Amino acid sequence: MIDSLTVQTSRRVEFIDITDRVRAVVARTGVQSGECIVYVPHTTAGVTLNENADPTVREDLIAHLARLAPVDGVYRHAEGNSDAHLKAGLLGFSVLVLVEGGCLVLGTWQGIYLAEFDGPRSRRVLVKVRPD
Ligand code: ZN
Repeated sequence: MIDSLTVQTSRRVEFIDITDRVRAVVARTGVQSGECIVYVPHTTAGVTLNENADPTVREDLIAHLARLAPVDGVYRHAEGNSDAHLKAGLLGFSVLVLVEGGCLVLGTWQGIYLAEFDGPRSRRVLVKVRPD
């Protein structure tokens, strides 16, 4: 079964910590050992794991991605959101986190983030928990 989370973003570019919401899905499934897949069915938002303590890490990520794919860069795609497509593609659209003891196996400093690059929008995050 797949759980669907709705995440409302409030800025054009932002990282939203969805770790607790994914944890709640894992807890609801009752799966003790397996894999949790977090997937976003979008092309201008991604999902990633990264530092959950110091917010400057996420600020640096946003700033460096903006240098790689500037909003006002020259692109063929004419919707005005080409930078968002590129940034989302660089981060990717899914992450897999192991589940053990009924909990996500995350490093001390890891959080799960929806990475919005063309907001504000309502985004879907799909979560599948597979037992061993
Ligand atoms: Zn587009």
